[in-house]
This record gives sequence, structure tokens and C-alpha cells, in this order.
Amino acid sequence: MFPPVLKQFLLKLNEGHGYFCLGIDKNLSIVESHGNPESLGLFPPENGTLITDYLPILISENFTENFKIPFFNINENNVCDIHFIKCENLDYIMLVNKSEIFQVTQKYQQFAHDDNISKNKFKRLAEELNVAKQELKKSNQEKAALIAMLSHELGTPLTSIIGYSELMLNGELDKNSLKVIHRNAIHLKHTIENTLLFGRSQAKESDIHLEATRSSEFISELKDTLYHFAEDKGLALMTESLADEVIYIDIPKTRQILINLVNNAIKYTESGFVKIVFSVSNHSYIFTIIDSGIGIAEDKLDTVFSPWGRVGESREAGSGIGLYTSQKLANSMSGKLYLKSSKKDIGSEFELIIPINKPDIKPLEENNIVTQQQSHLSVLIVDDDEDILDLLTFMLEPSGFVIHRTTTNEDIDDILKTQSIDVLLTDMNLGDVRADSFSKKIKHSYPKLPIILMSAMPSAKLKTNYKKLGFDAIIEKPLQRNKLISLLSKF
Ligand code: ADP
Repeated sequence: MFPPVLKQFLLKLNEGHGYFCLGIDKNLSIVESHGNPESLGLFPPENGTLITDYLPILISENFTENFKIPFFNINENNVCDIHFIKCENLDYIMLVNKSEIFQVTQKYQQFAHDDNISKNKFKRLAEELNVAKQELKKSNQEKAALIAMLSHELGTPLTSIIGYSELMLNGELDKNSLKVIHRNAIHLKHTIENTLLFGRSQAKESDIHLEATRSSEFISELKDTLYHFAEDKGLALMTESLADEVIYIDIPKTRQILINLVNNAIKYTESGFVKIVFSVSNHSYIFTIIDSGIGIAEDKLDTVFSPWGRVGESREAGSGIGLYTSQKLANSMSGKLYLKSSKKDIGSEFELIIPINKPDIKPLEENNIVTQQQSHLSVLIVDDDEDILDLLTFMLEPSGFVIHRTTTNEDIDDILKTQSIDVLLTDMNLGDVRADSFSKKIKHSYPKLPIILMSAMPSAKLKTNYKKLGFDAIIEKPLQRNKLISLLSKF
């Protein structure tokens, strides 16, 4: 007979699940059983079997007081709670089927787990979204600041260029005004270059293209570019070379940094001097720009390299991205740009350090032959802008080049068939057509014809790509006459 105490026990559990109950004596032998063992996937035990043989899980129990082993996997398909219940005559092991509940609980646990994962995912996504939002906000602010800066920085020199050239056209000014036009045009060029470089540094693009140049020539070219600016303010622009040798640097990047530094030095100096010092240490090229200008207050020293980090009290025009871009450029060359010292009203000293890195490139002499003799090369120039065609003709004809010109790529083939052309010089953008869309075809038909591409600030990566597209050389715009003649003469 099923003991009433167990009935009550089962009723208390109130779960209505299947059960199997075993009565055991003081020796732990099974003496009676109730319920349905099959519902738990068990076979019925023979009377006299030790409970610890029938259910080995119980081996470690001492059966002195009631206990419960919850959610025990009694076999592959069944889970049960095992209760030990002490009674007067016999003790009982009650197996209560929990398989269903277990599965449901497990499902809930899985849901809870998945939910947790989803919550964490959402949290992470929300955090990422927030960071992206902040970056977007910052970049929008920077864009607005860039546009404001550009409209000022481009507008001011343009006003001078347009004003002075109009006066010249009316015959009201002499040739000296050309100096003003030239100076402002150079200023425009620097601003545009800085803006493009700023864009590239924001896009994290950086590539290095090492070239050989003689340090003295590099510095004197720099001085030539900037001395008008110093002269206008009555400042002495001095150079000091503690070494003179062939150096291997990324010329456009290094030049841009130094132009920014010297430009600043001139801008922020009211009287005295600006000095460019070049030296070489064991492993580095060192350029130091010293000025006797307004200096930077001690508490502002940290901000000068931040974008839009305009700190001075000077009313000088400025972009606020010059030093930031320069430092990025220096870093991209594994170099270092830093403010070596600055004292209010005494002056500042910026230093650019570039590690020496001798690449496997042609020696300078072979690379940079400038022909002084008259050239008789016949050059076909392709540019959709007639003014540029005129300018290039003015630049090249006096040196003996025979110029053929066209504004469209459609004429190229005819000219090449009817004229003897030694070099083809083309702009990248010709109205709706890009030169890289036909360069390969021309190279295929005229494999010996050198093609030179004119391109504004091409990155080293672009230069490599252009070479794959059939261009033999790339010359940077705005073109410099000496460089153009030197390059053409190589062919
Ligand atoms: P900006 O176009 O304003 O000159 P930069 O990034 O080139 O932008 O310089 C950031 C700020 O650092 C300048 O606004 C100026 O206050 C300060 N600065 C830079 N170079 C000098 C210098 N040689 N002497 C004094 N202040 C300087």
C-alpha cells in the first residue's frame, strides 16, 4: 500500500508529474516500489537490490536525514528530482519526473541567455553609434570650419590677384604688380595643397615617395619660394646649411611642411629674422626653423598642433590646419615635427626630423639632368584649357621645342599619324574624358611614344597606378618651367 505520508508529499509538490517511489529498509535494500518506472525510462528493480546499486548517484549519501537532489539526469531522455524521505518503518526514495519542466526551464534559460546577448549587442551597437555620431558631429564642425577658412583664405589672395591684374590690364600699374599677383598665387597654391593634404590625412591616406635631391638646392628653392613674403615685411630670411649632400626625402611632403613652418615664422614675426637651418645627424635629416617673432604663450604650447588650434593674438590670416597637417605629414614619413622652444615676444623654434632612408633609386645625376641646350623635341600637348595650352607653348617654344596642341583626345590619333611627335604631354581631365581612359590604347599603337601626365598633387599610390596605365612619367601641377623642360629633355 502506498503510504499516506507519501501521498501527501506528492500532493504538496502539486506538480502532477510522473513519479516512481522505492521503499528501502535500514540496510538500504529495496523492499517495495510504487508508480511507473517506465515513465522515467527505468526498469523495475528486483526486491532486495541495494538502492545504491540501482541508483549509483546515491553512493555518496549517508541516508541519515531527508535530502533532495534536484534535476538529476537519470538517463538520456529523463530528468527527475530525487527525494529521500525518512519514515517510521521504511525510508523512501521518490523520483519525481521533471523532464518537461527541465526542458521548459532550459528554454527559458536559453531565452534569457540570448536576450542577454542581444541586450549586450544592442548596448555595444548603441555605444558604437554614439561614437560614430560624435565623430560625424566633429567632422561636420571641422567641415564647416574648413569651408569658413577656405572662403577667407582663398578669397583674400584672389581679391588681390583679380584687382591687380585688372589694374594692369587697364594699364594703371607697372610690372611690379606682377610680384603681388605672383605672391598671392603662391599663397593660394599653398592653401589648396594644405587643404588637399588635410583631406588625405583625415582619410588616413599616406604614402611615401622618396626622391634624391641636393640639400642646398632644396633649401634654396624653398627660400626662393618664400623670400618675397619675408621681404614684404622687412624680415631677413636666412639659411644655414651645416651639411650639403644628396638627401633622399619625399620632396613634396617635406617641402609642404617647411613651407608651412617658414610661412608661419614670417606671419608671426614683426621684425628681425627667420632662419632655416639644415643639419644631418647619424640617422636623421634635421630642419630647424627659427624666428624672432611673437612667440607662443606657455599655456598655449600644447594646442598649436591641434586642428583649428589658432592660439595667437596676432590678427594674421590663417587656416589653423597648417601645423596639424604638417605634423601628420611628418609622422607619415616616420619623422617628427615638434616645437623645440618658444618664448613670448622672443621667438619660436620648430624642428622637423626625418629619418635617413636611402632607397634603391637612381643616383641624382642620372635623375635630374637639366638640359641647358636648345631642344628640338616635337611635343604634342593635350589640354582642354586653351589658356594652359598657351602657357605651355610660351614656356616651351623659347627653348626650341616644336609644339603641337589640341584640346581634345579625339584629334590625338590624327596628329600622331600625320606628324612626327617625340613626346605626348596630356592633362588628366579633358572635359568629360579622362586621359587614363585612352592612355593604354595609345601606348599599344605607339609603344615607343613617351606619355607624360600632368596631375595636381598625385599621391605615390596614384603615380604607381598611372604608370600601369601607360604613362611614362607624371609631372605635378602647377607646372614649373625648369622641371618640365628637364623632364621632357629626358625623352
Ligand atoms: P595658422 O593658419 O593659424 O597659422 P597653424 O596650424 O599653422 O595655423 O598654426 C597654429 C597656431 O600656432 C597659429 O594660429 C599661431 O597662433 C601659432 N603659431 C604657429 N607658428 C608660430 C610661430 N612661428 N610663432 C608664433 N606662433 C605660431
